Amino acid sequence: MAEIEVLGGGIFGLSVAYAVARRGAKVRLVDCRRIGTGASGGLTGALSPHTPDNWNDKKQFQFESLIAGADYWQEVERLSGLPSGYMQTGRLVPVNNARELDLANERVASAAEHWRGKADWQVVRADHFPGWGPQSTTGYLVHDTLTARIDPRRAIACLAAAIRASGGEIIEGGTARGADQTVICTGYEGLLDLSREFGCEVGKGVKGQSLLLQHDARDMPQIFSDGVFLIPHQDGTLAIGSTSENEWVDPASTDDKLEILYQKAMQVMPSLKSANLLCRWAGVRPRGQKRAPILGRHPSRPGVFIANGGFKIGFGVAIGVGEAMADLVVDGKNQIPKAFSVEANLT
Ligand SMILES: Cc1cc2nc3c(=O)[nH]c(=O)nc-3n(C[C@H](O)[C@H](O)[C@H](O)COP(=O)(O)OP(=O)(O)OC[C@H]3O[C@@H](n4cnc5c(N)ncnc54)[C@H](O)[C@@H]3O)c2cc1C
Repeated sequence: MAEIEVLGGGIFGLSVAYAVARRGAKVRLVDCRRIGTGASGGLTGALSPHTPDNWNDKKQFQFESLIAGADYWQEVERLSGLPSGYMQTGRLVPVNNARELDLANERVASAAEHWRGKADWQVVRADHFPGWGPQSTTGYLVHDTLTARIDPRRAIACLAAAIRASGGEIIEGGTARGADQTVICTGYEGLLDLSREFGCEVGKGVKGQSLLLQHDARDMPQIFSDGVFLIPHQDGTLAIGSTSENEWVDPASTDDKLEILYQKAMQVMPSLKSANLLCRWAGVRPRGQKRAPILGRHPSRPGVFIANGGFKIGFGVAIGVGEAMADLVVDGKNQIPKAFSVEANLT
């Protein structure tokens, strides 16, 4: 049986290792620190789609990953005996002018076509969820029922336990040992390595900060308004995300930018002002230079594969990433959109 080594214990590495282990391969995941120390160890966990119009391969890939979520996490929770915090609770976005309202209404039909009845894109009155929801100048909100949420830290622990329960090995604080095949899922540091290796910018790290409040709205849809995400979690907390910083020095520090985000969130949902602040967090997202996932064979190293570039949707596409990489690495089948290939990101 071929031995597969996965480098990196973020959501990409864990999803790949899990998919590979479920297919019966011998897998070892190695993180040079601890699993979940990178971008995947954060607070937000929005699993949300792009708009359903102008459909393309990336949107299809993401859609398939999102609709697989309920069954996937149920199975991972069963194998691990741990909760992931997954629930498909939907999302509300305010419609702020007549042009946005026309667009929102047009997208109802696009969603019916591309989401195939698995979820809806609805335009609803702003009082549709009494006591919950952002203000809207038109009096309307978009309510998509496809969006889900997950608790990133619980999901990481749950997936790691499911890998072990499936016969996989996880090594923390270790280095690559070598195997028949290696899948490199090392987040933004991996993108910097690739950029050095190929002498061009394959991708980079974009810092983000977020915070967590004590506020129990666990069954309510998450909200995206004025660039701010409000994501209620299963455990009675609510995450607020996220800043986006191209220039940064310390990957893990929080600062005034998070304070500004907090103030914006209070404008979106003034009732949160009395909620206790539980935690502030910062991490660095891996951003491929075309903003799309970077998946596939390493262009010049036989037996080496890359899964990276989740940027702001890493958790949302992770199931698809794991399955697509297992198709390639274990079964030799390449069903990955061409635009995601490493070569397509070298230009
Ligand atoms: C503030 C913020 C909010 C976000 N919100 C969301 C959201 O709501 N929804 C969503 O879908 N996405 C969100 N994202 C994006 C998402 O978190 C990332 O896309 C995802 O976590 C990337 O996962 P990864 O496994 O590629 O990288 P990482 O999680 O960064 O993991 C990389 C791992 O590789 C390890 N590593 C590095 N070098 C080596 C080496 N040489 N050998 C072994 N191991 C190595 C690191 O220690 C690390 O554990 C957010 C990101 C941030 C920063």
